[in-house]
Amino acid sequence: MAASELMDRHLELSAADPELAGLVRAEERLQHETLRMIPSENYVSAAVLAATGSVLTNKYSEGYPGRRYYEGQQVIDPVENLARDRAKALFRAEHANVQPYSGSPANLAMYLAFARPGDTVMGMALPMGGHLTHGWDVSATGTWFRGVRYGVRRDTGRVDFDEVRSLALAARPKIIFCGGTAVPRTVDFAAFASIAQEAGALLVADISHIAGLVAAGVHPSPIGHADVVSTTTHKTLRGPRGAMLLCGADHAKAVDQAVFPGLQGGPHNHTTAAIAVALREATTEEFRAYARAVVANAARLAKELTARGYDLVSGGTDTHLILVDLASTGVAGKSAAKALDRAGIVVNHNAVPYDPRKPFDPSGIRLGTPALTSRGLDPGHMPQIAAWIDRVITALRDGRSGVEEQVRAEVRELMAAYPAPGVPVA
Ligand SMILES: *Cc1c(COP(=O)(O)O)cnc(C)c1O
Repeated sequence: MAASELMDRHLELSAADPELAGLVRAEERLQHETLRMIPSENYVSAAVLAATGSVLTNKYSEGYPGRRYYEGQQVIDPVENLARDRAKALFRAEHANVQPYSGSPANLAMYLAFARPGDTVMGMALPMGGHLTHGWDVSATGTWFRGVRYGVRRDTGRVDFDEVRSLALAARPKIIFCGGTAVPRTVDFAAFASIAQEAGALLVADISHIAGLVAAGVHPSPIGHADVVSTTTHKTLRGPRGAMLLCGADHAKAVDQAVFPGLQGGPHNHTTAAIAVALREATTEEFRAYARAVVANAARLAKELTARGYDLVSGGTDTHLILVDLASTGVAGKSAAKALDRAGIVVNHNAVPYDPRKPFDPSGIRLGTPALTSRGLDPGHMPQIAAWIDRVITALRDGRSGVEEQVRAEVRELMAAYPAPGVPVA
């Protein structure tokens, strides 16, 4: 989007709703000035933003291309076909459904398609790095289904496939989910697939966090191993907030029916369009270089944090994500995250495996490099970032004041030199 076009949109919003426009501007400022290190977040391109803000939001189109319940689909059908075809080509899948409203409804569609209430499903436990929708208690998926959970080994921080296998053979789940939200290591899709096959379960690979890495070939692909691949589109893939389900022709009908009419009404066509744009961007050499840089940045940051004495779950990372266990520092995850936020470094508190603390005040923080890499930071910046994190946490532990303000000013100065895609500089 041209800067002038962005300005026009701002002027329109400011004139119609100054209060809301002011909030959007404030968020732009935050996204410009801070170091955003929540691993599920990113910056979309101006083109993705433009598609998201397009008139496609005005159209209703329940159904699928060529089979709609509303007329006037002359444009929407090609838009959705473009998104589906690009998804299939990028991930080498036979079938793609691009309509799930987000990652959680995409996963819920798996239960509707392949299980019945009360059935057993298996996923990684939430405090071990799994997602709520993989059968955790407080989720509908854990209350309407019987969730059996696997974890990671205490000594390695990695999935214990002997445990997964024996749990699966004993419980005979309908569905096994692999992947998660706080998994710093490569997911071994082949190992999960062989266990799922032996147990007679359907394997769903949830690659929400790593979809961009998979698309770029820097993380192995689950295609050919998993029966269905579920993913959000807004994390490392750098698209709009949305989701996709990818599968072979054999499961296409079940997947499509579960999404619509099973769970949803009209698809969000503006999101579908923006997904199409993001998928096109993800085919470029520039995007592949981006994904490699995301991983290189995380590896370097992990090394720098380790050198400063921090304990990383599994000892490091293969991906975009780092889970820091702060137990040995004497600082809790939540207070560390809040202090870092005041210092302009935005992270989230997170449980670590075998966390002795409560989930709402756990021992860890979760860091990621997707957003800062979208702004062009490289491994050479990671020692500085590790030093900032260390300064803030050490000052918090020692009760020293003034450090957060200092770091915040230094972060703002660095980030001013790396404008974020789609974010106007005030
Ligand atoms: C983010 C995420 C989801 C949920 O996505 P939402 O869009 O927040 O509903 C599901 N599974 C995994 C592994 C995720 O990381």
